[in-house]
Amino acid sequence: MRFSAARVFWEGLTGNTGWTPHWRSPEPKSEYDIVIIGGGGHGLATAFYLAKEHGLTNVAVLEKGWIGGGNVGRNTTIVRANYGMPGNSEFYSHSLKLWEVMEQELNYNAMMSQRGVYNLFHSDGQRDAYARRGNTMINQGDDAHLLDRAAVRVRLPFLDHDNARFPVLGALYHGRGGTARHDAVAWGYARGADMRGVDIIQNCEVTGIDIEAGRVRGVQTTRGAIRAKKVGIVVAGRSSQVAAMAGLRLPIESHVLQAFVTEGLKPLIDTVVTFGMGHFYISQSDKGGLVFGGDLDFYASYAQRGNLPMAEHVMEAGMALMPMIGQAKMLRSWGGIMDMTPDGSPIIDRTPVDGLYLDAGWCYGGFKAVPGSGFSFAHLIATDTHHAPAARFRLDRFARGDLIDEEATGSQHNLH
Ligand SMILES: Cc1cc2nc3c(=O)[nH]c(=O)nc-3n(C[C@H](O)[C@H](O)[C@H](O)COP(=O)(O)OP(=O)(O)OC[C@H]3O[C@@H](n4cnc5c(N)ncnc54)[C@H](O)[C@@H]3O)c2cc1C
Repeated sequence: MRFSAARVFWEGLTGNTGWTPHWRSPEPKSEYDIVIIGGGGHGLATAFYLAKEHGLTNVAVLEKGWIGGGNVGRNTTIVRANYGMPGNSEFYSHSLKLWEVMEQELNYNAMMSQRGVYNLFHSDGQRDAYARRGNTMINQGDDAHLLDRAAVRVRLPFLDHDNARFPVLGALYHGRGGTARHDAVAWGYARGADMRGVDIIQNCEVTGIDIEAGRVRGVQTTRGAIRAKKVGIVVAGRSSQVAAMAGLRLPIESHVLQAFVTEGLKPLIDTVVTFGMGHFYISQSDKGGLVFGGDLDFYASYAQRGNLPMAEHVMEAGMALMPMIGQAKMLRSWGGIMDMTPDGSPIIDRTPVDGLYLDAGWCYGGFKAVPGSGFSFAHLIATDTHHAPAARFRLDRFARGDLIDEEATGSQHNLH
């Protein structure tokens, strides 16, 4: 089934009775060439690019819950390519280019909206750091503009520009950044992979990884054993637990990250704003809710839910940046489990087990990475060579001390 304006119009006239499920629900086969563990954004994008770029379609994506139930459907939907470190810079640049063609490629409306991202700065030192970052982005071929305080005052009049502690001195503006509807991204990749022959199997938890003589042979699942020549682990917050099934200990801690949404309001923020002196970022959804988030919980946990201390912490940052947010009623909050690495950057690599691959460590920034990660992980699994934009995301960099430490906060997971 192809989507088009004519189709929407016709279905509207005929009672919307012609829509069909977006993907099949096949029974798992006993054997596949490739099994992807985890039906989040990264796993589904990997399956899609395996089929599209490499013609590999004897592939299954095994998801323990339902498509869109993990972090891919829980994030604050911010997409950007404003990284400064070699490794991240080229990777996120590539990922943003894929975002820009993704809806056409998938024939799916993911509500990609390049509404721009403002990173505010509040001190001279922070301005210099953003100027440096902007230059890196431009050198990478992406867009960046350093705005002074007058320009930001005109563009974002609702901020507390003259806050005594954190005055707004300007912003780094990235016009090609923005937001997308998170679960639609998962649905679009699921549909795209399914249409090319990939089996997407929900309610199928992987409980063990079969290894013989140092080589992966398949997986054990709640729906039986499945043999596979190659297996990819792409399970976000559960990376350490699933890798442990293969005897691997990862340099990853899992932490909860929360997000919040207010009641629907009239159009107020037509862009994305990040606070430079606290961890706070905000945009407005198409339904009108203000969508915002902040820091990770400061301790490791697998609790996939929110808690009040962090809610208070995030609201405080929001009130410091834009006090009028105190007038809005909070509607909902939720949490997702983040796989935090010691340098805040991801891993796309082979593991010491032949045929077993790992895509993990996306921390709290992996939504924007979905297309790039899927593309690069598919390349690695299909060709056994690293895709150039992701070539630095090696598992052994932590042992070598070759960190990609974007935040310059060292090896403390919860500060990344
Ligand atoms: C509150 C919040 C806000 C965020 N905001 C942003 C943002 O604004 N911008 C941004 O870029 N990123 C953001 N992120 C981060 C981003 O959402 C994640 O980094 C990214 O979604 C992780 O990859 P994924 O989509 O594959 O994860 P998931 O959707 O979590 O997919 C992993 C899947 O693996 C499945 N799984 C786990 N164990 C097993 C098993 N044993 N067997 C089978 N399946 C298994 C899970 O059920 C899950 O569906 C945010 C995250 C949260 C929680």
